Amino acid sequence: MSPAIAAATAETQEHQALRKAVAALGQKYGRAYLSRVAREGGHPDELWADAAELGYLGVNLPEEYGGGGGGIAELSIVLEELGAAGCPLLMMVVSPAICGTVISRFGTEAQKQAWLPGLADGTRTMAFGITEPDAGSNSHRITTTARRDGDDWVLTGRKVFISGVDIADATLIVGRTEDAGSGRLKPCLFIVPREAPGFTRSVIDMELQAAEKQFELVLDEVRLPADALVGDEDAGLLQLFAGLNPERIMTAAFAIGMGRYALAQAVDYAKTRQVWKEPIGAHQAVAHPLAQAHIELELARLMMQKAAALYDAGDDMGAGEAANMAKYAAGEACVRAVDQSVHTLGGNGLTREYGLASLITASRVARIAPVSREMILNFVSHQTLGLPKSY
Ligand SMILES: Cc1cc2nc3c(=O)[nH]c(=O)nc-3n(C[C@H](O)[C@H](O)[C@H](O)COP(=O)(O)OP(=O)(O)OC[C@H]3O[C@@H](n4cnc5c(N)ncnc54)[C@H](O)[C@@H]3O)c2cc1C
Repeated sequence: MSPAIAAATAETQEHQALRKAVAALGQKYGRAYLSRVAREGGHPDELWADAAELGYLGVNLPEEYGGGGGGIAELSIVLEELGAAGCPLLMMVVSPAICGTVISRFGTEAQKQAWLPGLADGTRTMAFGITEPDAGSNSHRITTTARRDGDDWVLTGRKVFISGVDIADATLIVGRTEDAGSGRLKPCLFIVPREAPGFTRSVIDMELQAAEKQFELVLDEVRLPADALVGDEDAGLLQLFAGLNPERIMTAAFAIGMGRYALAQAVDYAKTRQVWKEPIGAHQAVAHPLAQAHIELELARLMMQKAAALYDAGDDMGAGEAANMAKYAAGEACVRAVDQSVHTLGGNGLTREYGLASLITASRVARIAPVSREMILNFVSHQTLGLPKSY
């Protein structure tokens, strides 16, 4: 690719080389590995360790703390390529992307020293908890409350659908300070160790074939030291969005990777499956929807690259809009690519052997999380188009 075209599409030679290298790692493991791990109730520890060893997990974290010194652009390439090989690592969306970013941007020196090297080399993992049973899409309504008691903080509340709490050393919990109990959300972020007294979890029975489990959490008077607070308690939404924009970009990468994986299976199948004179891929009713899925995934990737470039350039506001749009586009492209891929395989699309049917549920995750399709349409209606609000 010429440098001019590479620059225009934000795909530099370094990025292309990274893509290729990660794809090679992904192919070493592949879908069969992840399916086996999920079936056995385990975790993709070997892949996680290999990816960390190669510097991929901490590629966005600062070099002085053991990271690669890159940005979300590089981290999203890693997740997309692992996904395209059939073995995405969901915890990348939360551990290095949200938690690593928030700690590197707003953490104290001690917090950086304590967490970043471990997040970068994969020996430590951090989950992220904002969603609450009675707040859901309306994060302004969260009630998890942090009360000061001497130098300590005491946290009380409930969270739901929090991924990977069982394997994470700690969870970055979004709460609000007690005196900010009404009005707009003034979020505060706390590092809650997995075994903190009063911090309990129960697994949610999800219809997802995935290694990462989702949990309902109870925080019952969880006592934390002063340095559990990350950033400033009065900083408001800025710190939170510093983590949520990477989350949206990474969810886009997750969705694009999954869509590419499904589409590749369908294309292979359509080239060889023959029930008339020609392979089924010669029929335009089969070929065109696959071509359309490919185009939609490519378009979503362009938006993801734009969002990542804006974010890495320090434009949090611009990145916010682009990250929302990228997540929307990628989620929709993924759902449609998976749906069409399953259909292309006919009956085989629903067999365990071909392994595509389970992606129907998995692909829906990117439509609902971390922010639903409708909430992004609301955001664009109000923030971008200036339309009035109904709620
Ligand atoms: C697999 C998985 C993993 C997850 N991991 C995490 C995690 O690690 N950490 C975490 O904090 N959360 C996590 N979540 C939670 C996820 O972010 C939420 O499910 C999501 O934000 C939606 O919230 P909700 O499920 O309460 O839906 P609700 O808010 O109840 O929404 C239900 C439906 O109503 C629609 N709706 C709501 N309000 C409006 C409105 N104003 N206008 C139009 N439509 C509206 C929504 O779009 C949706 O379709 C995870 C979820 C899943 C499924």
